Amino acid sequence: MSEIARPGASVAPAQQVSLHATTVPRSFVAVAYHDVHPGDVFSYGSLGRSATMYHVSERVFRSHLDVIQAAGVSSLGEAALRACLGGAGTLDGPGCVLTFDDGWRGAVEGAAPILAERGITAFFFVVSGFIGRRFFADQEGLRRLDPSLFTIGSHGVTHRMLSSLASQEIFAELSDSRRRLEDLLGRAVRCLSIPGGAVDRRVLEIAGAVGYDCVFTSTLGINPTALGRRGIARIGARQSTDAATLRRWLAGDLRRERARAALLAVPKRLLGMRRYLKVRRALLAETVGHDHFFEP
Ligand SMILES: [Zn+2]
Repeated sequence: MSEIARPGASVAPAQQVSLHATTVPRSFVAVAYHDVHPGDVFSYGSLGRSATMYHVSERVFRSHLDVIQAAGVSSLGEAALRACLGGAGTLDGPGCVLTFDDGWRGAVEGAAPILAERGITAFFFVVSGFIGRRFFADQEGLRRLDPSLFTIGSHGVTHRMLSSLASQEIFAELSDSRRRLEDLLGRAVRCLSIPGGAVDRRVLEIAGAVGYDCVFTSTLGINPTALGRRGIARIGARQSTDAATLRRWLAGDLRRERARAALLAVPKRLLGMRRYLKVRRALLAETVGHDHFFEP
C-alpha cells in the first residue's frame, strides 16, 4: 500500500524516485471538494445554489489533477497525513490532501475512479443520513472505494451545524454517524470533517471523546496548523478555480483567500452563524421553495 500517491505519467522518472513511499512532506495544503459533476451544466432540481456553489465538473476536476501532477506535488493518504501532523515529515515543499465532503454520488462514482487511475489518494467525508438519497452515494458505492487509496470519514448524520447544537446532540451526530460508517465498511472511522465548518472547543472535545483523532475544518491555512490533527485547515475548490489559482495554493500562497475570509468574518461574527447563512442565501438570490436541507 502506497501512502503517498506518486504523480503519474506527466512526471519524469527521476522525480518519481525521489517521491519514495516512506517520504512524508513537512506541510500540506488540503483542498475541499464537494460533488464532481459529469457535465459543465449542473442540475440539482430544487437544491439551492448555496448547496452547489462548491461543485466542480469532471473536466475542471481533471484539470486540477493535471496541475497537481505537473507540479510534482504528492497527495497524502491517511497514514502519511498522520505522519506529517505528527512531525515526521522530511520532504521540503508542501504535499496536498484532497477531500470530498457530504458523500455526493459524483464524488464517489465519478471522481474516485479518476483518482484511482492516477494513483492519487483522497478523503471522503460522508453524511451518514444522506447515504442512498438522490444525488448521494449509496452503500455499495462507498464500499467500492479502494481503502488503500481512499479514507472514508464522517460528516455527521444530518449535516446540522454542530456548534449550534446541545452537547448530547453533537455527541449523537458524531457517534451515530461513526457507528453507521464502521458497520458499513467493517473498519475503524477516525477522521471527521465538520459540517459547514461550524466548530468550537466544545465540538472538538466531544469529537475527541467519540474517538475522532483527525478533524478537518473549513478554516483557511497551511497544515500543520497550531491545532495539528484537531484542526486540519482546508481551502474550497470551485468550478472557477483555475490552474494559476491552484498552483498558487499548492505553493502555499493563500494570501488572496485570507483577505477575502477576513472580510466575510465580520458579518459572520456580527450576525451569528445561523443568521449569517440565511443572509448569505438571500445574497445568492435563492428564492423561497428551494430545498435548503443543508449548507455545504
Ligand atoms: Zn458539508
